[in-house]
Amino acid sequence: MKHTSELSIDTILPAMRRAIGEGDELVLLHRPYLPPAAWTYVKDCLDTGWVSSAGAYVGRFETELAAATGCARAVATVNGTAALQVCFQLAGVAPGDEVIAPALTFVATANAICHCGAVPHFVDVSEERLSICPRALEERLSIVARPGPNGPINRETNRRISAVCLMHCLGHPGEIDAIVEICARYEIPLIEDAAESLGSTYRGKHTGRFGLLSAVSFNGNKILTTGGGGAILTDDEQLADRAKHLTTTAKTPHPWEFHHDAVGWNYRLPNINAALGVAQLEVLPEMLRAKRELAERYVQTFQEVRCARVLQEPSDSHSNYWLNALVLEPDVEAERDALIKQINDAGYQCRPLWQPMHQLPMYAGAPRGELGRTESLCRRVINIPSSADLAPNWQKGER
Ligand SMILES: *Cc1c(COP(=O)(O)O)cnc(C)c1O
Repeated sequence: MKHTSELSIDTILPAMRRAIGEGDELVLLHRPYLPPAAWTYVKDCLDTGWVSSAGAYVGRFETELAAATGCARAVATVNGTAALQVCFQLAGVAPGDEVIAPALTFVATANAICHCGAVPHFVDVSEERLSICPRALEERLSIVARPGPNGPINRETNRRISAVCLMHCLGHPGEIDAIVEICARYEIPLIEDAAESLGSTYRGKHTGRFGLLSAVSFNGNKILTTGGGGAILTDDEQLADRAKHLTTTAKTPHPWEFHHDAVGWNYRLPNINAALGVAQLEVLPEMLRAKRELAERYVQTFQEVRCARVLQEPSDSHSNYWLNALVLEPDVEAERDALIKQINDAGYQCRPLWQPMHQLPMYAGAPRGELGRTESLCRRVINIPSSADLAPNWQKGER
């Protein structure tokens, strides 16, 4: 029951302190957890000299990542943006095409589309999950799509719509079944931007396994970090082989000769980064447990704060709770920015959501549907500290 206190710094700070205590230093939004094995494995790279584009940790990381997600294959890359670009390319996205993406996302989603020479086409998200709203997608396609020889064409721009990109926002799985059904009906390949959702499942299956291909990120602020890095996930062996080939300069195997059979990329993840990834995969279940506990704690301690709710996982999903978010009610949104400043000043790092894509200068002219919910949410969300080690029982007893 929400009734006691108004939304203000005087109600938010006590709730924050009840959840995560009071630190001497700034409590960061999200800091990595580097287990002891990280030191061992990185030292092994240094000791053996295998620090760069060859070495055993890359293959090991790929195998263990595939096992952790239940995916047939994982191909490690230099970052998540590169992984996403290659996903689009392998799905057949070509220069001059359009790719449907949420207007509420990190800029890399739209950039990866442009890196293929295509144009993002923005649709709205849902209030519950912050990811593509199936009704908005359906409505948009029913207005603009006409059948073409190689998939639907946008009748307004005459560009082919060659993929839909579903991003699982802040780690919470999107409305996957409905989106998959719409994509199948319109014969548009689905790519998942699972950059934020490693460890999140939808109806028992890991995110990133519903589209043709998906991308994850291991940037410094993600649930698992390799310093910088990413991966392509797919259940299709041939696509995985192609992804590996194209991201490693399209070199045909030979002990010493340099023969390349396509314009490839140097998108390899260095061995030293993969070593960090292997170490953290070993503790991923523990991190997921801790982040869930932290989220539950926030839900409790913010219970009494009026006009704000802690974003929770949808009932059909198990979320990694990558970043916890307070969602303010619309009538108090004007107070958001002042609150963000006050919470930061009090020693708790917090951030707004991204600026909507269509409000960035390079995407202002991109095709789009109605984006009212995206715009509203971008004025109302505050991301709050979410590191695994802030959880109430972090490493007490278990280790
Ligand atoms: C982090 C992120 C990416 C990009 O990953 P990098 O590894 O930083 O290139 C893409 N999409 C979303 C939604 C992200 O959060």
